[in-house]
Amino acid sequence: MNIKQQLIKKDKQNVWHPYTQMADWINNDPYEPLIIEKAKDSYLYDIDGKKYLDGVSSLWVTLLGHRNPKIDKAVKKQIDRVSHTTFLGLTHKPAIELSEKLLNILPKNLTKVFYSDNGSTAVEVALKMAYQYWQFKGEQRNCFLSLKNAYHGDTIGTMAVGGTDLFHSKFKPLFFKNYFAQSPYCYRCPYRKNEVPFPNNVKNFKEHKKIMGCSGQCIKEVEIILSKNHKEIAAAIIEPINQAAAGMIIMPKGYVKEYAILCKRYNVPLICDEVAVGFGRTGKMFAIEHDGVKPDFICLSKGITGGYLPLAVTVTTNKIYDAFLGKYEEFKTFFHGHSYTANPLACAAANATLDILKKDNVLKKLQPKIVHLEKELLSLYKHDKVGNIRHSGVMAGIEVVKDKKKGKAFDYKLKTGARVCANLRKEGIIIRPLGDTLVLFLHLTMTNKEISKIISAIRKQLDKL
Ligand SMILES: *Cc1c(COP(=O)(O)O)cnc(C)c1O
Repeated sequence: MNIKQQLIKKDKQNVWHPYTQMADWINNDPYEPLIIEKAKDSYLYDIDGKKYLDGVSSLWVTLLGHRNPKIDKAVKKQIDRVSHTTFLGLTHKPAIELSEKLLNILPKNLTKVFYSDNGSTAVEVALKMAYQYWQFKGEQRNCFLSLKNAYHGDTIGTMAVGGTDLFHSKFKPLFFKNYFAQSPYCYRCPYRKNEVPFPNNVKNFKEHKKIMGCSGQCIKEVEIILSKNHKEIAAAIIEPINQAAAGMIIMPKGYVKEYAILCKRYNVPLICDEVAVGFGRTGKMFAIEHDGVKPDFICLSKGITGGYLPLAVTVTTNKIYDAFLGKYEEFKTFFHGHSYTANPLACAAANATLDILKKDNVLKKLQPKIVHLEKELLSLYKHDKVGNIRHSGVMAGIEVVKDKKKGKAFDYKLKTGARVCANLRKEGIIIRPLGDTLVLFLHLTMTNKEISKIISAIRKQLDKL
């Protein structure tokens, strides 16, 4: 047995992988475990030295390519000072610098940075802060509002506001009460009359409704829920622009703005979960900038460290923060924290990432790449196995269907999405599907040539279906 086979054997013996049917994994279905040994820029290299184009940013985290020299250097430098120190009762320069940098690029109403270490905790923190805030106001608000198809993390609290039945329904008895409004998933929306061809270049939600022949039911449901129940709702949560984990469900232009306006009207704090879509993935630094939305909480993680290390922040307003101030014996303290809160190595990586985004004009250089991706996707949309393509910035969902005209899906037992991705892997391209939606989640530094390579490899695989 060579080293690779020994490693695979030990992995199968000892390891339980996330979101993985281990019986399939053990049977090499649909592929033998791939052991990644190193990476550089857009490529991952396996233990045999074979290279793979990383089309999912190592599950939505790597932002500026692998082994960016400046981030590497910043982390190494920090290792020589201190790798970890608690944030309970102590502080450190990397975190202080990072909070200032973040506040400089966020809307001005967001003024206080609370650190944690992953996306789920960033959302939990926002939910708990909002919940406790209302207690200080003398109101008992025991539920939240979110969208069907939403994904906000895998802890119990974030699952309670999650609307992805496949992941969440089994745990339902454990959840607190939550209101779900219709997901703005136009392709499979029962209320629209017309099909709008990609790309969807409408100006605002009003125009969108006109073109779609749609009644705007998705936003109407938000209004109905809020008008009836706002006194019960501690906060409303939304992943702005893109319900990524549901298969890149891109919201109609202006939808997020309407959602935010309704929250404001009914005095319900708004939590924007930008764990996936933040830091340039939509083409702007934050997705809320597209609609000029100023939330009461923003949750950030994934790309924040360039995809190097676990780190997250929940950023909120003075209004929320001030409500927690008081005498020690009033116990208004926010009793929440994690062992690795504000890990200095992670903060150093995040500082370097934000410096690069600014100094290297990454977002400006990104714009022509987005145009290129859009052009490539538009040509792929003509394929008769492509039912719908949704994209924002460097994120795209390609929904593969059996019958394009009727939008009829393949039998899920065929595992079409997974099979296509397994074949792409043989061609040296790594992407991961969500059901039969092929997901692209690209580094901001990916080249036009690499983008075209991914799209043409996908086309080749779709031809075989
Ligand atoms: C990934 C993700 C989370 C959870 O983040 P983890 O770091 O995996 O816990 C939460 N919200 C959104 C929108 C995400 O994409």
